[in-house]
Amino acid sequence: MEITLVEGDITEQRVDAVVNAANSALLGGGGVDGAIHRRGGPRVLAACRELRATVLPDGLPAGQAVATTAGDLPATWVVHTVGPVHSTREDRSAVLAACHRNSLRVAADLGARTVAFPAISTGVYGWPVDSAAQIAVRAVRAVAAQDASTTVGEVRFVLFGREAYQAFARALG
Ligand code: ADP
Repeated sequence: MEITLVEGDITEQRVDAVVNAANSALLGGGGVDGAIHRRGGPRVLAACRELRATVLPDGLPAGQAVATTAGDLPATWVVHTVGPVHSTREDRSAVLAACHRNSLRVAADLGARTVAFPAISTGVYGWPVDSAAQIAVRAVRAVAAQDASTTVGEVRFVLFGREAYQAFARALG
């Protein structure tokens, strides 16, 4: 599994699966979530509503992941995951790692070979980007080392801005 870094917009990535930093409601929001729904169009929202009406009546818990169509995005699927809100009182890094692990599992169950991730939790959820980058890279490397059945050959972190890009470059080493 190769890990690559791109500075840019995740909604422009031609990949099999784009990971969305969603919120539990799954009905859209700001940041990456807003951009994915804007560009993905009504089919993404309809699929999210359907999930809420059936298997996820209480929404998607932090750390878990679920897939929908990517609608009008140049990708095949959106994998929605909910990052943890950063806390200084409690270490929630296991939840952030679980977002990456579970998103990769959902993508692999669909047969995805290329998966794009944003810097989950580093926007409105307040996670310091250097710390989030280390957790994200470590979690993806752990899947690469442990999951022989994965179909995913490329994990592409798509970072908005130079600062986030450089944080992920440092985490990759
Ligand atoms: P969260 O609620 O998990 O913190 P946000 O969407 O608020 O998620 O932010 C996550 C990260 O995604 C932030 O670093 C933000 O700058 C970045 N971001 C926002 N829009 C895009 C986009 N279109 N493509 C890639 N990254 C984006």
